[in-house]
Amino acid sequence: MNKITILFISILLFISCKQTENNGLQFVSRDRDVPTFSADSAYYFIETQVNFSPRVPNTYGHAETREYLMAKLKDYAGDQSVFPQEFTAEGYSGDMKLTNIIAAFNTSATDRIMLCAHWDTRPRADMDTVKTADYIPGADDGGSGVGILLELARLMADNPPPVGVDIVLFDGEDYGTSGDIKKYFIGSRYWAQNPPVPGYKPRFGILLDMVGAKGAQFPKEEYSMMYAPNLVNELWGIAEDKGYGHLFLNEPGAGVLDDHYIIDQYTDIPVIDVINHSRGEDGNIVFAEHWHTHRDDMPVISKETLKAVGEVLAELIYNRI
Ligand SMILES: [Zn+2]
Repeated sequence: MNKITILFISILLFISCKQTENNGLQFVSRDRDVPTFSADSAYYFIETQVNFSPRVPNTYGHAETREYLMAKLKDYAGDQSVFPQEFTAEGYSGDMKLTNIIAAFNTSATDRIMLCAHWDTRPRADMDTVKTADYIPGADDGGSGVGILLELARLMADNPPPVGVDIVLFDGEDYGTSGDIKKYFIGSRYWAQNPPVPGYKPRFGILLDMVGAKGAQFPKEEYSMMYAPNLVNELWGIAEDKGYGHLFLNEPGAGVLDDHYIIDQYTDIPVIDVINHSRGEDGNIVFAEHWHTHRDDMPVISKETLKAVGEVLAELIYNRI
């Protein structure tokens, strides 16, 4: 082959690779039935977690919640399809036993997507004015994302999804003291550096974090728009069609460091973040008033918000891929 032929073939290969990559983020509306997401059920899953008290590493509540999440996911995905990824990490006072919890639906499908949230809660209420050294209930921060994913798991048990869906619940997301980034995102960092399945490459991932509060606002988070703008626009378009444009705002959000950013950095899986925040005047992040305070408890949780997020995800999973 001469040089021009080789160059031509290389360009063709490059284009086809790029197309395959992009195809994972192309969506069309298909005429499929979408099962009904129950906000009552998601709410109950959040309440159950909060009732275990703190889901702070090395506490009783953390261990109890781990067993509950494993059992619930096994109910829905089957005993053989739930996998605890256990590891040890250095905390502020000794080692911590952490666990990422993974549940796979439609395991025979090679075409897969990933849905994630963090299941640990913050050990301190550093944004509160009282009892700042005490843990937060974490109904919204932690609990809401997990609650919505458990409800989706319940739906998928009864209605097998058209693609493979992996739920990944990260541990140790919210452990670090303010500014100590190394002690945040411990579970997602471990997961990204130690993939439980070698070469695991879902089309994309969607992270849910603080997705349950009354009056939540989800602008288009900046890193999500960098890594997977088509997916963000599709999800926000679905929300608009369903009348949830007042929650999923069609406007730029801030750049939020979260589990999705870690995975986007360490792997080639594009992951976006649905997260309640707003963008301040100078582009800084503003979180809800209850963030990292004792007020992050069941009274801030809104079934309307849970329903909106759940329905948008169900539509994407069952009817757009
Ligand atoms: Zn947090």
